[in-house]
This record gives sequence, C-alpha cells and structure tokens, in this order.
Amino acid sequence: MIEIKDKIEQSSNIIIAGHINPDGDTVGAGLALLLGLENKYPNKRIDFVLQDSVPKNISFLKGTEKIKKIEDIVNPNYDLAIFVDSATVERVGKVERLMGDAFKINIDHHISNPKYGDINIVEDISSTSELMHSILKGLDIEITLEMGEAIYLGLVNDTGNFAHSNVTNKTFLVASELMRLGVNNNKIVNDFFKTKSLQRMKVLGKALSEMKFIQDKNLMYFNLSYEGLKNLDAIKDDTEGVVEELLNYSDSEVSLFLREDETGKIKGSMRSKHDIDVNKIAGIFGGGGHIKAAGFTTELSPDEILKRVVENL
Ligand code: 5GP
Ligand code: MN
Repeated sequence: MIEIKDKIEQSSNIIIAGHINPDGDTVGAGLALLLGLENKYPNKRIDFVLQDSVPKNISFLKGTEKIKKIEDIVNPNYDLAIFVDSATVERVGKVERLMGDAFKINIDHHISNPKYGDINIVEDISSTSELMHSILKGLDIEITLEMGEAIYLGLVNDTGNFAHSNVTNKTFLVASELMRLGVNNNKIVNDFFKTKSLQRMKVLGKALSEMKFIQDKNLMYFNLSYEGLKNLDAIKDDTEGVVEELLNYSDSEVSLFLREDETGKIKGSMRSKHDIDVNKIAGIFGGGGHIKAAGFTTELSPDEILKRVVENL
C-alpha cells in the first residue's frame, strides 16, 4: 500500500481506466477512486476515462458526469495509469492508447488476471469495489457518501445483490460500514435493478421464449443476432442480465449467451451454478473472468462457438 501511495504522490497526471461495456463494479470502483483522489490531492490532474458510455441504470450515481470519454482528452501526457476491474490491458479498449509509457497499477479481482501492471493488487474477492474500499482506507482517504454509494453499487453488481458465492462475511462488513455512512440500500437497488427500459424487458422476453436447453450438458443457450437486437429497437446495454436469467432454470448448470455486435463479432457471456469452470471455457476463445462468470469476444460463428463449448463441457 505504501508503494502505491508513493507512486500516486509522485505523479501529477493520473488516468483511471475501466473495462469496455462498463458495469456497476468498474464504474463504482473507478468513481470511488476518482472522487477520493480528487478530495485528497486537489492539485493533481485525475481523469477517469471509459471507452463506452456509462449505462443508464448506473448514471444516477453522483459523480458519473465527471467520467470522461476518449474524445475529451486532448493532452494525455499521463505519468500514472490505474486500471480497475480489467482482467487484461486490452479490456480497457482504446483508452490504452492514451497511456503512453505511464507506470501501471492494476487493481482487480479476476482470477484470470495475468498481473500485467508494474504494481498489481489482484485479489480473489467479490468485486473490485470491495477491494477498492480497503485500498482507499490504506491510502488514508476518507470515504464520503458519494464514494460509498459507488462502492455499494459495485458490491450489488458483482454479487447479484449479495446472492453469489463470492460473498463473504467481509463483504457484508463493508456493506454495513457503507450503510452506517448513510448509503440507502433500498434506493440504490431500486435505481439499479428496477429501472429497466421497455426494450430490455423485451430482450429478456425474447431470450426466455427462444432459449434452447442442451439436456446432456445441462446448458441453457441463447443467441441474439444484431438484427434481432435492432428489431426490438434495443441496444447492447438492454441485454444485461440475460445470461443470469438463463441459469435460473432448475436443470441449468451452465448458461451461454451470445450477442452479435454491429461488426459481426460475437460477444459471449457464461455463468455457472456449481462446479463448472466457465473461466476455462472463455479462455478457449481468448476471454476470461471468474470460475462462475466469464466472457469473451470472437469472430467465430455462433454455431462454431456452441460446438466448442459443448465439446468442452
Ligand atoms: P460478462 O459476461 O458480464 O460480460 O462478464 C463476466 C465476467 O467476465 C466479468 O467479470 C468480466 O469482467 C469478465 N469478462 C467478460 N468478457 C471478457 C473478455 O473478453 N475477456 C476477459 N479476460 N474477461 C472478460
Ligand atoms: Mn468486477
């Protein structure tokens, strides 16, 4: 911790980067760090930059309006880059190009993380946000209500509202501390989960009616073409949550959701209920994540992806 504190104190231009298709954990952890560093070091330049926009159901968090897009950065010149929730350097997408040869700090919780940073704080823990909570304390940064809300949303995002097996008693202790700070659990959960667009409800409906169950592998599968997405007037954010829903069927042990993007590439998401290691399967396609939740992007066809997944289950 001393090492990263020194590094931050020696740097004057700092970039924080999170992964493409940002979720509540990337945004929560990055935002808490941004607000904390801004409060403690008002004379430093600190930019939190994401390649893609913050999804609508996360943008209620105070401070998200400060998150920058690549086009906003005219003079990068960073001496320190802090990666949050990003299992590989490539996961930050085009934001990497802003970093030059800045010193890299890698703060993450994915088991597939190859520790690509000059300093790595990679722990097998519920969320990067839970990790960020202890890092901020270690940096002697006071956690404000706004930072607490961001961290709380990260916990909710990556634990499925405290339901997944990655929840420990420590996760609840952090949540409890945040509530003591004034975080309104009910408001955050409602703003995050109960504010779905009509398109998102329709995507889910399509998934639930068209999904296929592959009996001998206990695999629930759904493939959404780009045309299918457009026909519902939906965007990629509207597909969030589909892969978890596929796993809810009593006999599902594993779920696979494929989504075609506008370039024809396929984004794959997998979830596992018990022992199946989907991090390993995502690895076949160059992706990764966690044992029970992983993803990848590939140029293979949906049929070929399904075939390879089935062969490896
Ligand atoms: P999701 O399926 O929700 O996109 O991602 C599930 C988990 O896998 C998340 O922790 C996410 O960060 C990780 N993940 C998703 N896509 C990729 C990918 O292409 N590469 C790697 N290394 N991890 C991914
Ligand atoms: Mn995460």
